[in-house]
Amino acid sequence: MTAMPERETTYVVVGGGQAAAWIARTLRAEGFAGRLVLIGEERHWPYERPALSKDFLQGTGSVEAITLLTPALAEEARIECWLGQRVVSVDREARIVTTADGRTVSYDTLFLATGGRARRLPGQDSLPADRVHTLRTLAESERLRGALAGAKRLLVLGGGWIGLEVAATARALGVGATVVEVAPRLCARTMPPVVSDWLHALHESHGVRVVSGVGVSGVAAMSDGVAVTLADGERLEADHLLLGIGIEPEVGLAAAMGLALDDGIVVDAQGRTSDPRVFAAGDVARHPNAFAGTSLRLESWANAQNQAIVAARAALGGAGVYADIPWFWSDQYGVNVQMLGLPGMGTRAVARGTPEAGSGCWLMLDESGIVTGAVAVNAARDLRVLRKLLEDGRAPLPDAWADTATPVQRLPSRPNIIMR
Ligand SMILES: Cc1cc2nc3c(=O)[nH]c(=O)nc-3n(C[C@H](O)[C@H](O)[C@H](O)COP(=O)(O)OP(=O)(O)OC[C@H]3O[C@@H](n4cnc5c(N)ncnc54)[C@H](O)[C@@H]3O)c2cc1C
Repeated sequence: MTAMPERETTYVVVGGGQAAAWIARTLRAEGFAGRLVLIGEERHWPYERPALSKDFLQGTGSVEAITLLTPALAEEARIECWLGQRVVSVDREARIVTTADGRTVSYDTLFLATGGRARRLPGQDSLPADRVHTLRTLAESERLRGALAGAKRLLVLGGGWIGLEVAATARALGVGATVVEVAPRLCARTMPPVVSDWLHALHESHGVRVVSGVGVSGVAAMSDGVAVTLADGERLEADHLLLGIGIEPEVGLAAAMGLALDDGIVVDAQGRTSDPRVFAAGDVARHPNAFAGTSLRLESWANAQNQAIVAARAALGGAGVYADIPWFWSDQYGVNVQMLGLPGMGTRAVARGTPEAGSGCWLMLDESGIVTGAVAVNAARDLRVLRKLLEDGRAPLPDAWADTATPVQRLPSRPNIIMR
């Protein structure tokens, strides 16, 4: 750590989510003594989102359990939280932030942690808002929970992680679920076929109908629900429709500020944008990822927290860089799935244990034998050991990986040169 800012400096964080909370908390934890203002559009105190499609949606979670920055914590850490306020402009010359209701604050250093917003359907506004759902915020999760309580059938558009988790939660609540995915298989963007096939079977075994490889040609309102017509002519009717068709990074503000963008705000390994006084972190930021050998924008809990911590420290003169191997988890039907690295880049899978039968881990390799990532099913411990190995630039020998009699930490390994 070098040059700690003077007392009278002001750091402003735009965004009220996980990354924003970690930036603010880290700044204080690392000794920032100046004025610290966090401005978030949502009325809720900053919270973590993963439970919104899982236990919180099911009614077994609480707001307290997911809140990251409570009023008491904020007061203790002297973090001024302007909640329920959207930042509408930033004057980079004058270094002034303005909110929708006209409040302004000058900054010395600015952080953008504006996250992403759920993608909507073209023409969605003409559909009944109480029947068509997106799931990004706590308010939307509460609304969907209320809807599922009185529903018999849910239709999910999008066979990605959010859509699948909601389908699993719907089944736990006794609601019938159909998932429609336009790609030929589930989670096709990030997962290898072996994982897609397993997910497909997992959902079908819980009574979900999975329709893949078919687009949607129309969505229409019914008096008591929604009807979706598929490209092959089939008509599906449901009480409610959930759109799990991805997010778009919330870059409007950054674009108006003239910052460098590329499907997200372009940052360096310390979270610094093209303006050295402005940092960005979380779902909105595209960073150079050392493991992937290319730049990535990650939509994950671990990224939102750890990239935010690095950016906050860097703004205080810290030398650390963000170099985590991508990591993501999902819980469905009581099954814990964890993804490490970029398993979707692999073309060959070597299984340890029997993930398809409930416990094990697929190691994914590319054509040249390099390990690109892994997917663990109820095998978090093995994945943790693998992560340490990959962080050291090594990988277990593929043939040894299948040997469950030897603990992962004792498997023979070799250097793993990451993709370029
Ligand atoms: C339902 C759901 C389930 C998930 N499950 C998992 C999981 O199981 N595992 C996992 O690894 N990840 C999961 N994720 C992903 C993870 O939650 C996100 O990666 C993380 O929330 C990103 O945090 P963030 O702070 O970057 O962005 P966000 O959480 O999107 O927060 C951004 C905040 O900024 C606010 N904002 C935006 N623009 C402005 C503005 N102009 N002015 C003021 N405020 C603004 C927004 O209102 C929002 O509150 C899940 C996400 C969702 C939605």
